[in-house]
Amino acid sequence: MSILVVGSVAYDSVTTAQGSRQDALGGSATYFAISGSNFAKVGIVAVVGDDFRPEDMELLKSHYVDTSGLETSRGKTFQWAGEYSPEDVNSRQTLDTQLNVFADFEPELTQEHRKQPYLFLANIDPELQLKVLGQMDERPRLVAADTMNFWIDGKRDALTEVVKAVDVLFMDEHETRMFATPHIDSANTVKAARYILSLGPRMVIVKRGEHGVIQFTEDSIFVAPAYPLESVVDPTGAGDSFAGGFMGYLAATGDLSPSAFRRATVLGSVMGSFAVERFSVERLRSLTRPDLTNRFHEFTKLSQFDGLKDDETLPWREDAGTGK
Ligand code: AMP
Repeated sequence: MSILVVGSVAYDSVTTAQGSRQDALGGSATYFAISGSNFAKVGIVAVVGDDFRPEDMELLKSHYVDTSGLETSRGKTFQWAGEYSPEDVNSRQTLDTQLNVFADFEPELTQEHRKQPYLFLANIDPELQLKVLGQMDERPRLVAADTMNFWIDGKRDALTEVVKAVDVLFMDEHETRMFATPHIDSANTVKAARYILSLGPRMVIVKRGEHGVIQFTEDSIFVAPAYPLESVVDPTGAGDSFAGGFMGYLAATGDLSPSAFRRATVLGSVMGSFAVERFSVERLRSLTRPDLTNRFHEFTKLSQFDGLKDDETLPWREDAGTGK
């Protein structure tokens, strides 16, 4: 194994413009693990209730996800219900969040889990994220985290500790501004990302749904588009699938150079684009290597253009203003 993830394993009830699903397999750790397991071995730290369906456990195992850290407790599995605006796929309303067995979950990492070089603190209670980070034998080579408005509202202090402790932070655009707003003078994404970088992470990845992602570091900004799909069936899990592709690439190659981070961001976008094509993990579970390679090529073409050669200039009318 090389990536350890702590996050939710859930049953989701989702309504989108394309239909609805009740109690479908979801959760941040689930999407992350199924996506990331295409590239590297992923171990999950989470808890499910005794209502967790055997076929869902089988699905994780069939993707060679290490489930030795996935406890089963008496009670109900985490449940989330959400609805997407029929006019705007980027706009989502949470209708219900029931932590259920997560409310009393006390993770106890195995010796093997404590040594993993890549750690992903997927969206879950930030106190739980800190407990997992605190149990690692030594600081992993790369620690990344994601979160959600639910925790920004409810556990801001613990979340701030998480943000200070990680190398890479993923947040959606609205949440980035929400987290930073008390500390910046206007609700601006660049300012919000800069504020977050000032707390400690060396990279912030702002997720913008169908508008792609922006990767911020202290001295660079890189933008990756989202794949222009004709039909987005269910945006749930796009962010976690993104993170699975991103961390999976870095863990599989061991390369943490700036160009590897850019490629990881594009591979993450590819995985997010698959996740939203069907409900739940339906599309991700049937993904093949040719599907992945083809879409990666298409992504490369999406934003490829010829830059200026050294001796080249842009057209500029002779009688145009001089800019003075
Ligand atoms: P995403 O669409 O990438 O933000 O992830 C959605 C997934 O996060 C769903 O499958 C939910 O089960 C899960 N989820 C929703 N709310 C929470 C929460 N407060 N904590 C942890 N996981 C959550």
